[in-house]
Amino acid sequence: ITFAGLGLAEPLLRAIADTGYTAPTPIQAKAIPLVIAGGDLLAAAQTGTGKTAGFTLPLLHLLSSRPKQVQPGRPRCLILTPTRELAAQVEESVQTYGKHVPLTSMVMFGGVNINPQISALKKRVDILVATPGRLLDHVGQKTLDLSGVEILVLDEADRMLDMGFIRDIRKVLALLPKQRQNLLFSATFSDEIRELANGLLHNPGCVEV
Ligand code: AMP
Repeated sequence: ITFAGLGLAEPLLRAIADTGYTAPTPIQAKAIPLVIAGGDLLAAAQTGTGKTAGFTLPLLHLLSSRPKQVQPGRPRCLILTPTRELAAQVEESVQTYGKHVPLTSMVMFGGVNINPQISALKKRVDILVATPGRLLDHVGQKTLDLSGVEILVLDEADRMLDMGFIRDIRKVLALLPKQRQNLLFSATFSDEIRELANGLLHNPGCVEV
């Protein structure tokens, strides 16, 4: 299996070539075609499996294949992560894989001054990577509008629930448009995760590695 065979657009294949990856990992081989086809996804995957590229590459593909004028502070894709470290890492991946497509990204998390984030939201942001608490702070300050989100990713959803983010996640979900694509990644599957997934995902493709 090759990345080209998964249906990814040429600018993404060039970015992959720049990284030196020679072949997709198993989760990438399964998840990328499902996401490109537009379906929801439920993925059981640990860190180290290549899961980040597994959702980043196809979402960059989809967003760049349907170009759109973006209002400041109104992202087209929202990636929620449990920690600031993971948020920063995921946004770095978005930058790496998206370097040849005309999309912009931003990362936001708590524990740092909110003002630089407010300034950054005054520019075009296609892809927002965020932790839930600070995201809701921005919504409360009306510096962020989630009504244009076409793709939602919950990364390490089990850790988000372990850290007590379920109420924040529910609040965020209520702010998103009904019509959207949802991708949920989790290393483990408790009853709580299953309940979240059941309410969130519509006929999801399921991937396990
Ligand atoms: P992740 O599971 O997303 O945290 O990724 C783990 C590591 O695998 C990261 O350092 C990636 O750069 C690397 N990686 C992702 N996809 C591939 C691939 N297809 N071939 C080689 N390395 C990869």
